[in-house]
Amino acid sequence: MLLQNQIRCNNCGDTPFSSHRHHFSYCKCGDVAVDGGMDYLKRTGKPDGYTEMSIFMEDHVVKKLRTCVNEKLNNDLGKICGMMRVLRDEGYQVNKPEIKNGDC
Ligand SMILES: [Zn+2]
Repeated sequence: MLLQNQIRCNNCGDTPFSSHRHHFSYCKCGDVAVDGGMDYLKRTGKPDGYTEMSIFMEDHVVKKLRTCVNEKLNNDLGKICGMMRVLRDEGYQVNKPEIKNGDC
């Protein structure tokens, strides 16, 4: 599932995103643009003119995260912790690589 349709312009640094199917959005300098929302990825401009920032996630992981969000017994922090455990258990990196014992 596509969760975020976004790029970073390699010329101006702007980060245009497309929030819905027909939301066409240029960066500030006009070199590159995105379109397609969460339905498809469309890019305008040179392929080396942008850095991809889109976020994809498998459907079954999104389903597990939604379960965490809808958990009525947990407060907000409990929901966040539940979602982080889901991401960790599904193989996503959820901590900073440079974290060491005693940093917290
Ligand atoms: Zn630009």
